Amino acid sequence: MECNGIDLRPHHALCAQFFEGKGYSEQFVAHMYGVLATLERGGVVTLTDGCDAICAGCPNNRDGVCETDEKVKAIDRRAIEAMGLSFGDTLPWRDLSALAKEKIVAAGKLKDVCRDCEWIGICEGK
Ligand code: SF4
Repeated sequence: MECNGIDLRPHHALCAQFFEGKGYSEQFVAHMYGVLATLERGGVVTLTDGCDAICAGCPNNRDGVCETDEKVKAIDRRAIEAMGLSFGDTLPWRDLSALAKEKIVAAGKLKDVCRDCEWIGICEGK
């Protein structure tokens, strides 16, 4: 069955590109693989400015608010602006993924959009 209706915060369109099995806990990594599989199966995502489908498996998620909320919200804002999208937009994962690749990665904006992220070393190396 095709899956749809996945909430995603904008910067997770980037995390999903570069994920290589590293994360905040074993449980988080397993959860992330599950979300990625759902996206690849034809998921449709809605951009949210709060905790999303990926945050749902994260130990930093405190009752729906990220422990590093200020930092990740700033990354979300830079990512969504660079992709030319708005919070609440709904689109196929394939399209969001293509926009993240084109407007951020290929445009050389990854380092700026994701500044302050502890995982940037993984993404920059690819
Ligand atoms: S660190 Fe924050 S933004 Fe990232 S997955 Fe965890 S709760 Fe979500």
